[in-house]
Amino acid sequence: MPCEHKRLVLVGGGHAHVFVLEAFARQPMPGLDLTLITKEPMAPYSGMLPGFVAGHYRERDCLIDLDRLSRAASAKFVVGEVTGIDLEKRCVEMADGATTAYDVVSINVGITPDTGEIAGAAEHALIVKPVSEFAAKWQTFLCRAEASGGPRHIVVTGGGAAGVELVLGARFRLTATQPWETRRRDPFTYTLIAGTGVLPGHPSRAQRLAKAALANAGVVVIENDGAVAVAPGRMQLLSGREIACDTAIISTKAAAPSWFADTGLARDAAGFLALRPTLQTISDENVFAAGDCASVILHPRPKAGVFAVRQGPILARQLRRQLENRLLDPFVPQREFLSLVSLGDKSAIASRGSIAMAGHWAWLAKDWIDRRFMARFNRP
Ligand SMILES: Cc1cc2nc3c(=O)[nH]c(=O)nc-3n(C[C@H](O)[C@H](O)[C@H](O)COP(=O)(O)OP(=O)(O)OC[C@H]3O[C@@H](n4cnc5c(N)ncnc54)[C@H](O)[C@@H]3O)c2cc1C
Repeated sequence: MPCEHKRLVLVGGGHAHVFVLEAFARQPMPGLDLTLITKEPMAPYSGMLPGFVAGHYRERDCLIDLDRLSRAASAKFVVGEVTGIDLEKRCVEMADGATTAYDVVSINVGITPDTGEIAGAAEHALIVKPVSEFAAKWQTFLCRAEASGGPRHIVVTGGGAAGVELVLGARFRLTATQPWETRRRDPFTYTLIAGTGVLPGHPSRAQRLAKAALANAGVVVIENDGAVAVAPGRMQLLSGREIACDTAIISTKAAAPSWFADTGLARDAAGFLALRPTLQTISDENVFAAGDCASVILHPRPKAGVFAVRQGPILARQLRRQLENRLLDPFVPQREFLSLVSLGDKSAIASRGSIAMAGHWAWLAKDWIDRRFMARFNRP
């Protein structure tokens, strides 16, 4: 259906927006002026990041080419940082002062790291979010770590899936693949600071399996404690304890982008955009959002890529209907989903509901799902 020269602006190249671009590439909308504004031309797929850290994937295996996807959707592709939205003038504002007018706008910008409570983190730690900047930081760290006299005490903060995957991935990359003699002469140590426990929110059997994998890999797990300060060679914990730390990988708290506060859009208690079940913001029906940066108030779910991915096709359908002045249909996200946590050595824990199992087969399943996802969006 034609939409009489309407302007749709997509802010951020997150997981949901790649589905929107794909949908408009498959079924173009005559008269639509579509724009994607994103901070970088290649979007990292975080599901493959631990595999990249472990050395199973190259960096380019984990990147989605947003420029190519935009061209396929006949969308204008703008690389830049959005810093605000003027709801009255209906335009998106960028860091360089440029503005882009919209009739409908959709926000999928993920989260930003919240390391304010860890003194020295900005200078001395490798902060995982935004994932778009992590790969380069990891490569720099690897070069230092692979040299003799380089960092040896690796500490990962955050007991969630990302923290567990990263510490085991780093251990596989740095220790398991090194010759025995090198490992003996110049050993690495690994510590996981798991504030509220290992894999909180996962079934207890998955937590037990993860703890067993960490113990087998020689990772020291510190629970019920958190990092408060990082300095060269050491990390200070909430309990007052100090531990050796040459490299701190921070995968703990994340926050909503600070510019949301100035938009006047309704937000939840944590500052994320508050959504209706139609993925429209509560305060403005022409502003949509998806992924980690937003919360559907009636159906809260954890911040996870799987939900951003699930929202993608629904968001595409809702945006199309809004542009065509048609009724939108509310949707209820799944409560249970398959979670696959990789364990570094090409094995993984698969869990759904209260069931959890681990093995090489689970890693093969994750690898197949992730590669299929990448192939879908990087198709020539
Ligand atoms: C190591 C690691 C492993 C993970 N593994 C899994 C997993 O296996 N399964 C799972 O479900 N989840 C996983 N997650 C969580 C997952 O990364 C996030 O939930 C997911 O990336 C959220 O997707 P999103 O689309 O909301 O945002 P993102 O993927 O963060 O994308 C946001 C995009 O917007 C762009 N952007 C940001 N700000 C601006 C701006 N101001 N202007 C313009 N563009 C902007 C960014 O550059 C980026 O391209 C993992 C996370 C980490 C760190």
